[in-house]
Amino acid sequence: MYSFDTLLAEISAPAGTGREVLDPATGASIAWVADHTAADVATAVETAVAAQSAWAARSDADRSALLNAAADAIEANAEALVEILSREQGKPLNGPNARFEIGGCAGWLRATAATPLPVETVIDDGETFAEMHYRPLGVVGAITPWNWPMMIAIWQIAPSLRMGNTVVQKPSEYTTLSGLALAKVLNTVLPEGVLNTVVGAGDLGAQLVSSEQIDKIMFTGSTNTGKKIVEASSGNLKRLTLELGGNDAGIVLDDVDPQAIAEGLFWGAFINTGQTCAALKRLYVPDAIYDDVVNALAAVAAAMPMGVGLDEQNVLGPLQNEMQFNIVDRLVESAKASGARVVMGGNPDRAATGFFYPTTLIADIDAHNDLVVEEQFGPALPIIRYTDLDEAIRLANELEAGLGGSVWSSDRDRARSVAARIEAGTVWINSHGTIHPMVPFGGAKQSGYGQEFGVAGLKSVSQPQVIQG
Ligand code: ADP
Repeated sequence: MYSFDTLLAEISAPAGTGREVLDPATGASIAWVADHTAADVATAVETAVAAQSAWAARSDADRSALLNAAADAIEANAEALVEILSREQGKPLNGPNARFEIGGCAGWLRATAATPLPVETVIDDGETFAEMHYRPLGVVGAITPWNWPMMIAIWQIAPSLRMGNTVVQKPSEYTTLSGLALAKVLNTVLPEGVLNTVVGAGDLGAQLVSSEQIDKIMFTGSTNTGKKIVEASSGNLKRLTLELGGNDAGIVLDDVDPQAIAEGLFWGAFINTGQTCAALKRLYVPDAIYDDVVNALAAVAAAMPMGVGLDEQNVLGPLQNEMQFNIVDRLVESAKASGARVVMGGNPDRAATGFFYPTTLIADIDAHNDLVVEEQFGPALPIIRYTDLDEAIRLANELEAGLGGSVWSSDRDRARSVAARIEAGTVWINSHGTIHPMVPFGGAKQSGYGQEFGVAGLKSVSQPQVIQG
């Protein structure tokens, strides 16, 4: 079992060598890491290729048992992982944050191990007999972002391994320690060569994308990088699952009780301090109850402490990096300059060491302000007033992104009929972003394609094969 110190010692480079990792809340040095080279990536790919046939030859039950053992290992080392995640990413220990993320890693491994994927009989009518089998693809390249660095890695790794593929993962360069720590713990139980990790910047990801020895890329990140991956992956017609950026709309209907939905709205928007792909990023509220909804949301938001992740009382943390702080700051300044009303926040201490941006609610904002139409990916929510529901739906659908959306109503049938009109891969009713390992998840429009989780997720890392006759 690892402690924070022993796990960190295993994954870091000698002090003063490589790249220094700084705590986004305090600026303090956490560790040094040695980035990999192009030659290291080539070796990792060769290792994954060499290990694949033996891994695929194991029984499905065997591979599932190893996924469960990996979940046990995560649970046994949970607090060490939690502390590395919290210090490097910035997210607090409690609330839907670091402990929640590590619990999610174990839960997703177990659910992926338990998901049944039997051979399907496609037709058996006396004349024709055909079955559908799901075979391994080969080697999967798993490329992840910095917002949920451990959980998203598990979303890519667990189904890939279950289906008999081996993996080369590349964590975000902003959360290198989290990627290395997770792999270290998983590899205490996985056979050698099955899960390989390369750390460094986007060029290493690009090397995986163009490698002819990699059969599939699972990617979560920005739409721009997703487009580059589509172009660069054509050499061997690589399969792709692309989970890209979102700018999810939430539409409140005029029949809600504002008090009853306020906490759900808050966490839908501010989970992980707003740094979540499928978070509520634009809230549309009818004129008749506008002030009541804004006030109820502000009361919930005011009671949520933000601060250093390791402080047990906090539920919101810093932005993970300066680039993201600057994006949020620019967008909120654009809203303020346009005359929108600052209900709370909007006044960061730019001279402070940590990347803290205060919880910010912006009301009476133009529906086409930058804070509405660009993805803020931080703790600043624009609240747009509407009078005509059709117009609110039109505004929700007018952007290129289509990851998630939500409808808030006390009338489920009415909410479902609005949900059907929203152009998004998932529409939640009276919640936002509540994912489940058995429920497929994926984007519409420029939020990507392919689905993760559940049976659909297993199929997406497999080669379908028909056996007929
Ligand atoms: P985000 O801003 O959400 O981190 P990015 O798309 O920049 O989104 O990064 C997500 C992941 O993609 C990171 O691991 C990053 O290093 C990697 N990456 C960046 N550029 C490329 C590329 N051209 N090909 C493959 N992976 C890349």
